[in-house]
Amino acid sequence: MAKFPEAMKALFDNVYICMNCNATNRVDIKRFRLGKAKCRECKRKQLRPKKRGNK
Ligand SMILES: [Zn+2]
Repeated sequence: MAKFPEAMKALFDNVYICMNCNATNRVDIKRFRLGKAKCRECKRKQLRPKKRGNK
């Protein structure tokens, strides 16, 4: 498969992991900065950005 760095970046940039239940959440960066981002599973606001792999 061909790699599309820009596409991968877009995919991972808005993904946050809930620190409470480890659910993945697609969150818009604007909402995240405004503090409106929350887990869709447990509704908590304790989210962390998903770490991107090296490849
Ligand atoms: Zn959660």
